[in-house]
Amino acid sequence: MKSLDELLREAEQAHGHLCAGQVLGVRLAMLGLELLGLDDPRGKDRKRLITFVEIDRCATDAVAVVTGCRLGKRALKFRDWGKVAATFVDLQTGRAVRVAAKESSKALARQMHPEIENKNQQQMLGYREMPAEALFDVKWVKVALPPEELPGYKGERIVCEQCGEGINFQREVRSGGRVLCRSCAGERYYEELTENG
Ligand SMILES: [Zn+2]
Ligand SMILES: [Zn+2]
Repeated sequence: MKSLDELLREAEQAHGHLCAGQVLGVRLAMLGLELLGLDDPRGKDRKRLITFVEIDRCATDAVAVVTGCRLGKRALKFRDWGKVAATFVDLQTGRAVRVAAKESSKALARQMHPEIENKNQQQMLGYREMPAEALFDVKWVKVALPPEELPGYKGERIVCEQCGEGINFQREVRSGGRVLCRSCAGERYYEELTENG
């Protein structure tokens, strides 16, 4: 595995700036990989790893850099729970570990570096120096990954009976005897404007 400094440089480049979230995310992912015993996630181990992230914030970019897991490769899964946590799944062994940032780490960074006024700077340094046990809670977990969740899944595409759009990866919903996309089934996150005709 690359060093913390090296990974932080890469994370900074990918994310656009160095921030406390990058330090947290890099360390979180390094710990997850270390616990799984995967030291080359972007090389020889790249087909073994699936990562679930629980927030769309700074730390998530860093997790993606360290693990090499990307949304477009279906190896990065987003669960929008607003929590700085990620679960790392080794497909080869079936082992999975969830690493979550501790609520107490901010206060600890303040204690460690009261001389630094800027919170982001204070946390960046604190999060670098803290032992992993002070930063994270770790839980071994089991993650159900049906075939349609896996990166290489090839399944048939279904057409929504209402909007006519194609649906991949078995995301269709059966409702009132019809096969619908999630949007037409009522899970819509947008409203159509009447000017569309
Ligand atoms: Zn950031
Ligand atoms: Zn539809």
